[in-house]
Amino acid sequence: MNTASVMLSMVEGYADLELCVRRGGPSGRFRLSYTSEAPGDRDLRDVLWDRDAPAGQRDRMLYLDCAMCGQPVRQIRSIRKPRLGPGLLFLVPGGEDLERTVRTVLPPVCLAHTPAAVRQSMAFQHDHAALLVSEHRLYGVIGTPYRWAGHYVQPLPPSDDPVAYGSFEARWRLARLLVRELTEYTVVDHADLTEAR
Ligand SMILES: [Zn+2]
Repeated sequence: MNTASVMLSMVEGYADLELCVRRGGPSGRFRLSYTSEAPGDRDLRDVLWDRDAPAGQRDRMLYLDCAMCGQPVRQIRSIRKPRLGPGLLFLVPGGEDLERTVRTVLPPVCLAHTPAAVRQSMAFQHDHAALLVSEHRLYGVIGTPYRWAGHYVQPLPPSDDPVAYGSFEARWRLARLLVRELTEYTVVDHADLTEAR
């Protein structure tokens, strides 16, 4: 640790000495890095993760495990809409714009744990919608934006905006939440759902 960076952190109050800027990744461009980076600090898309990020959310969203029990979710079907193909059940908070692609940090849920998820999740305390999702993809992350301030790495005001993998912004985020994009889905009533055979 050099004296200059210690002084900067005392004067400015927000220099993060764990973080620095290095070239790297598939593009070889400058990006946010840890001064001593360990395996697992980056995801497969080269985004840096906060070491204090809630691990459960990232893994469950990545591997499509139930938000409640952590077991792999199974494909489900709608009894009332039999022509719909099988898909995964995602619950989203009320007020979400369901006319277009949905980006969410809430992992899917298994059928058995849907009532518990609705009861217990703060996100659903006012209202929610159940989506039978047939097409989805990893979109990117939500995290703290940083910038290079000449001598040190400076955090910018927190943002809840998802940033896309591969973007400039993603190289300058310290990720906390993994975002999945639901591209093909139908709003269903979860009372009408059954496990697909
Ligand atoms: Zn479950």
